[in-house]
Formats: sequence, C-alpha cells, structure tokens
Amino acid sequence: MIIIPESAIAELITSSDCLKAVEEVFASMANRSAYNFPVIREAIGHADALYGFKSGFDRKSLALGLKSGGFWPNNTSRGLTNHQSAIFLFDADTGKCRAVVGGNLLTALRTAAASAISIKYLARKDAKVLGMIGAGHQSTFQLRAALEQRAFEKILAWNPHPDMLSRLEEVAKEEGLPFEAVDRDRLGAESDVIISITSSFAPLLKASQVRAGTHLACMGTDTKGKQEIEAELLAAATVFTDEVEQAITIGETQHAIEKGLIRKEAVVELGAVINGTHPGRTSQDQVTLFDGTGVGLQDLAVASAAVELALARGVAIEVDF
Ligand code: NAD
Repeated sequence: MIIIPESAIAELITSSDCLKAVEEVFASMANRSAYNFPVIREAIGHADALYGFKSGFDRKSLALGLKSGGFWPNNTSRGLTNHQSAIFLFDADTGKCRAVVGGNLLTALRTAAASAISIKYLARKDAKVLGMIGAGHQSTFQLRAALEQRAFEKILAWNPHPDMLSRLEEVAKEEGLPFEAVDRDRLGAESDVIISITSSFAPLLKASQVRAGTHLACMGTDTKGKQEIEAELLAAATVFTDEVEQAITIGETQHAIEKGLIRKEAVVELGAVINGTHPGRTSQDQVTLFDGTGVGLQDLAVASAAVELALARGVAIEVDF
C-alpha cells in the first residue's frame, strides 16, 4: 500500500495536474462511466464535529475509494486546520487498499479546479474583471486557479469580514494585478466572472446586482440550508453543476428548486459541456452559473493523480498492508 502524507502533497501535484484530473472525471460522470455513492455526513456529538464520507467509482480510470473527514471547528485553537480529511483508494480488480493520501490540500486544489474548469468552459473569452465573494481558507486557491483561465486585468473582492480580504490582496500583488475591496453593488456591476466561496446561510448577491454576460461560480454551498446568492439570480441563469442530485439537495440550486423557480431538468452537468454534448454558453449576454457542490470522485481523481506522480518520481512510501 502507498502512503502519501499531507506534507508531501504540495511538492507533488500542481493546480494544472488537478484541473486535468477533475476535468476528466467530470467528463466520465456525464458519460455515466463514473458515479458518486450517497454521501454520509453526521454531527457526531463530540468536539462540535461534522464527520462523513464521500465515495465513488470511475470505471474509466478505475479510481475507487472514499474521502473521509469533516469539520472540527475548535481545531484553530490547537494550531490545526478545521477541515481534516484523508483519501483512501482501493484496487478496483481486487478490493485491496491501494493508497492512503492526505486530503486537506487536495480538497482545496480540487475545489479550485472545479470552478476554474467552469470558467474555462463557460465564462466569456473576453472576461477582464474577476469578482471574489469570500476570503477564507479556500479563497486564495480559487483565485489562483481562476487567474490561469482568462487574461483578467483586475480583481474586485467583498467579504462579510473585511479584515480577511488581505490574503486575496496578497495574491493579487504577487500576480501583479490591481485589487480593490468594494461593496456588492460594484462587484456585481463590474465583474465578468464572480466566484463565491463563503459559509453563508443567507443570500449575499441579488439578481439585480449582476450584469448580463456574467459567469458565476458558486462554490461555498455544500450543505442543506447554506446559500450565497438569491434564488431568483440562479433561476435567471443557465445553471451547470458537478452533479445534479447534489445541486438540488445540498447545492446553491436547492433554494430555487424549493421555491419552484426552476426544474431539475434545467440543470446541466458541466461534464456534458466538456464532452461536447451541451453547447455551454451560447451568447455574450447569457448569465451562466456553476453550482459546485464537491463530489467524492473529484477527491479520488486528484488522489489517484498524486499516487501516479509519486510512483513516477520514485517518492511513494510503500508499506506491507
Ligand atoms: P473559512 O472558514 O476559511 O472561511 C469562511 C468564509 O465564509 C469567509 O469568507 C467568512 O468571512 C465567510 N463567512 C463566515 N461566516 C459567514 C456567515 N455567517 N455568512 C456569510 N459569510 C460567512 O472556510 P473555507 O475553507 O474558505 O470554506 C468556505 C466555504 O466553502 C465553506 O462553506 C465550505 O464548506 C465550502 N467548501 C465547498 C467545497 C466544494 O467542493 N464546493 C469544498 C470545500 C469547502
């Protein structure tokens, strides 16, 4: 069995490796070669933790396994990341455990890859202004991955806790791009692409604040009850997602479905655009929206890529198991 500790991930895999792995698995999901198993997520009644499993199988790449972990809100006081996870890969031919891979950095990279893929396929080619809503741990990964997809000339940002915005400003500085902290009216009125990555439970952006032609990547809502944008904004957009069942139950789409503003059938898998079976954006004025809920197959895809890279470079730790 191969072990890849959390500390080895940063040296091993790049954001473009993750983008390629996630793009391939989204395509497999839309082809029905890959599917996610039902998600388990439980409040365990200890340390205020939420713990669970995301799992699946990709018949094309033969990635089989699960990511297990969750959210430990009191970890910060112990000097640890609140989100903790590990990814277990199994041999699809024998069922033997093939690898255990640290899942913390990979979660951020695979989540950023998903929104970057949505920008690659759905944002206008001439997008110049990137708007960021959210400035937590995930936000800098989101920002860096998005900047690789279009020739953005400016970054606008808003966060409910403005003191957190400095981490985004630092990335902008590193990339040599102008950065402005703005209110939500300006962010919506001037951005060509908007990424939301907060843990909000109430809408932060309204339909009236977003202009025609915008692409939104809504990445924060991954649980029942969470919400980043007004349901009317989602309903006015052409909606894409990683997985339709998750979008309508735990994703941003849940609210428009509950209000009867859209039908499940209107939600398109991003993989269908990657495969060329859906045209994606069809006009410059269309508002497109990616509801990124986060699926287990993304985790398996990036963990498998990390294992292959470790083997190819001769740095994999192998143990008898
Ligand atoms: P974080 O705790 O580091 O940051 C939280 C962010 O949400 C900050 O911008 C903070 O200002 C904001 N926030 C906190 N409380 C809020 C409230 N009550 N209302 C509005 N905003 C609030 O978290 P993170 O690791 O950056 O994750 C952000 C979100 O992304 C979380 O909801 C997390 O569950 C989600 N997430 C989604 C995926 C996916 O695949 N879609 C993957 C990882 C994380």
